[in-house]
Amino acid sequence: MKRITALPIKGESYLLEYLGKKILVDGGYASSTLVPALKKQLGLSKIHLDVVICTHSDNDHAGGLSDLLDQNAISASEFWLPGSWSNVIKDLVEETELFYKGLVEEVKEADEEHLGSLSSEETQAIDWELAALSSNVIVAEHLEPPREGRRLQLRPKAQVGKTTAAVKAKRSITMLGRSPGIARRAAELIDTSERIRKIALSANAKGVPVRWFDYFAYSKDRTAAGGEDFLRPVNAKELLVPPTQPLLQFHRFIALSRANRESLVFLSSGDDAHVDVLFCGDSPLGDGHHYSNSFLAGQRTGKPLIATAPHHGSDSNAMAYGHIGAFGSVAFWIRAGGKPEHPESAYRGIPAGLRTCTHCRHKKHPLQSVCITDKCEAFSDPLAWLTVRSHDCSC
Ligand SMILES: [Zn+2]
Ligand SMILES: [Zn+2]
Ligand SMILES: [Zn+2]
Repeated sequence: MKRITALPIKGESYLLEYLGKKILVDGGYASSTLVPALKKQLGLSKIHLDVVICTHSDNDHAGGLSDLLDQNAISASEFWLPGSWSNVIKDLVEETELFYKGLVEEVKEADEEHLGSLSSEETQAIDWELAALSSNVIVAEHLEPPREGRRLQLRPKAQVGKTTAAVKAKRSITMLGRSPGIARRAAELIDTSERIRKIALSANAKGVPVRWFDYFAYSKDRTAAGGEDFLRPVNAKELLVPPTQPLLQFHRFIALSRANRESLVFLSSGDDAHVDVLFCGDSPLGDGHHYSNSFLAGQRTGKPLIATAPHHGSDSNAMAYGHIGAFGSVAFWIRAGGKPEHPESAYRGIPAGLRTCTHCRHKKHPLQSVCITDKCEAFSDPLAWLTVRSHDCSC
């Protein structure tokens, strides 16, 4: 049995059940809605997740994971996290105060134009700095990296005083008098850092091993590596060891700036299943000019695909539909999360019978789960292998 469920919560969170495993891909905005949704879906009061994946650090994906392990009902065997975080995680958790002071210094000293270019999503400047950052990583070329050494083993310092380092840093940023755009971006990066810090802190406290999946190591030769048989990265290489701390200017700013563009993508294939499941996150599924250089170029699956709507059906990722279409034939699209303006025209262009959402906002539907089950058995009726439980999409 292979089952994918889009959980009926705000933000994006998918549960994959396959080969006896439970894999959570992103956690929506908050664990307070995620945990009850998981319990209801699985009919269990205590849940063990074999893998918890965070595709990228945005709040609508990472927010619900930041204190997931603090909930008594939840335990996990592994976290799979973006490799770019591994550059900052030690400093961020062990020297939180210093980390934020460093970030404030970076924002204070950088010239406006440079920071502006680094914080925009599509710029070559950030690519060059990132390429330098990832030049020293060691990647899993063989598909089975060693299991030892995956625990974080961090020694967080106790917080002094009532005001957190993040709050202090935000105040300092306000007082720097930088342009509103830079100040806002810096404040966002502090919120992002806090999500990353809390995820790392909880994994560390519970001794949950962490595996790192690095987009930039992938982007150099465009060969994905690592993961497991039930789920492989599409646009990342699994790191064998976390990279050592690089001493580059603006490294905090850069490492934390990486968001949608480098959102991790995973594919669940498998011989016994009738469908492949593609978890697109907020990725455009390609890079280069208008993201036209597909991550899936030269690959093709013969199985029907179930794909999650890239970036909640935003047209900023419209290019992704072509990339996915060239990779395989999509039997069903699932959409979760997003803003009121989503989905936009590219998603709405898909025939209505082939798509569904956890919420079709235009019709003000309440949040509903979408559950697709592949029975993974031989059926004489070719349609009998798949059951789709959802409402019709009216977007
Ligand atoms: Zn995002
Ligand atoms: Zn998102
Ligand atoms: Zn819809």
